[in-house]
Amino acid sequence: MVKDGFTSKIKEISEQNPNLCMQCGTCSASCTGIGAMEELPRQVMRLLQLGKDRVLESPSIWMCTTCLTCTARCPRGIDIARVMEALRVVNLRQGNEVLVLEDIPLELLTEVPQMALTSGFRKLSA
Ligand code: SF4
Ligand code: SF4
Repeated sequence: MVKDGFTSKIKEISEQNPNLCMQCGTCSASCTGIGAMEELPRQVMRLLQLGKDRVLESPSIWMCTTCLTCTARCPRGIDIARVMEALRVVNLRQGNEVLVLEDIPLELLTEVPQMALTSGFRKLSA
């Protein structure tokens, strides 16, 4: 679905302009998380250019580790990692948490390092 103002909101939060993207694919070719992504970073940018809010449902935005490789290599100077972060923020503001404490098995809670849990909650919960 194309939603008025959707891409503008992402632009405002990320302070980046997806319309500058020329679809060269350098970000996708460089992405360290590519094996876990459905939509590649280049495709995420394209969906934003088209104003398609279904990009919010893409698992790719949660798979992005903010490694900044794409950001460093984009020939148009777009901070793609910040765009991914903006998409996560909008999702979380809508209440779409992907990490819910009650859903984590107790055995896992005792095994996972605290730092990993803290990082996970910072990124994946509102
Ligand atoms: S590297 Fe930059 S210009 Fe190239 S596809 Fe990715 S976002 Fe677009
Ligand atoms: S910041 Fe995210 S999208 Fe960019 S290369 Fe790293 S994992 Fe991929």
